[in-house]
Amino acid sequence: MERLGKNHGGYHGETIDIRAVLRDIEISAPQHGWSSEIFHQTPEFKFLALHRSPLSLRTPHSAPRIYLSTGIHGDEPAGPLAGLRLLQENKWPENAELWFCPCLNPMGFTLNRRENADGIDLNRDYRNTRSPEVLAHIAWLERQPRFDVYLCLHEDWEAHGFYLYEQNPDGQPTLAETMVSAIQKVCPIDPSEIIEDRPAKNGIIRPNLDPRTRPQWAEAFYLIMHKSRLGHTLEAPSDFPLSTRVNALVTGVNAALESLNQGGTRI
Ligand SMILES: [Zn+2]
Repeated sequence: MERLGKNHGGYHGETIDIRAVLRDIEISAPQHGWSSEIFHQTPEFKFLALHRSPLSLRTPHSAPRIYLSTGIHGDEPAGPLAGLRLLQENKWPENAELWFCPCLNPMGFTLNRRENADGIDLNRDYRNTRSPEVLAHIAWLERQPRFDVYLCLHEDWEAHGFYLYEQNPDGQPTLAETMVSAIQKVCPIDPSEIIEDRPAKNGIIRPNLDPRTRPQWAEAFYLIMHKSRLGHTLEAPSDFPLSTRVNALVTGVNAALESLNQGGTRI
């Protein structure tokens, strides 16, 4: 698969009309049984959190609780598009309970930049939080139960292929290889042995670090400290076509959900 060769010093690929994407998400979600809550509002945007109860209530206590989020970086259009496609395809496991924040930085998309309108990288703002968006998001997260798994959908304009981070401090059965082996059928995997200054193998980074030692927290650090003991940050490579990146993220989420549904991971 050919790289586009567009991204030098930053993301210079396609942009999206985030208002149209969010409108389609708002239309699609209730059609497929999702309820929605506005956890933050600005004059331009409503910040949505979607929730879907398990369809089968026979074994409510065994329903895996899964949290998805995307759109925290405004120069990573594949995430919200993948979220919309997952909603429209509606292939969620019947017994799963799902929470989904489909766009955490809508203003960033209108500016095609990573940060919010005030220049804050929201994905570094989950400790000593300054931004109203992340304050509201954390307040919403605090009202939710714990999640068995989280999946945060991103892109990386410097990546040579898809890769992901797995945070799994208790050594639970992993989902990382399952996701990568499904994704490699639709998108190249980054073969680098070092990605983002961390050791990587077959597109998988297992950062063995204690968030308490880090001054700035990504959303994933907040989640692993407060909401979940297993989670993944999926990074689609921005130098490949947008459709390939969307396919990579959708395929990764579906592979993880399928594996959880088949009991591939202890819930
Ligand atoms: Zn990102």
